Formats: sequence, C-alpha cells, structure tokens
Amino acid sequence: MVRSDPYTADEGEYECIDCGYRAGEGGRCPDCGGDLKNISVPRE
Ligand SMILES: [Zn+2]
Repeated sequence: MVRSDPYTADEGEYECIDCGYRAGEGGRCPDCGGDLKNISVPRE
C-alpha cells in the first residue's frame, strides 16, 4: 500500500528555515545560507 504524503515528496526532505528552499540533503541553503531542516519526519 502506498501512502501519499506531501511532507515526503521526491523534491527534497530538507527545507530552509529562512526562505523555504527545498533540498535533498541537509546543510546550508544555497539560496540564502540558512540552515536546512529535515522535514521528512513521519506524521502519524
Ligand atoms: Zn534559504
């Protein structure tokens, strides 16, 4: 069974806390240099 979850899109599992940039890996935002936060946390 496949669940569609908007928070686990193929686009990226990390999001910049400053500008909302999506990335596939953690680290620094290439756009504004902010921290990337993991947003692929499972939600029950
Ligand atoms: Zn950013």
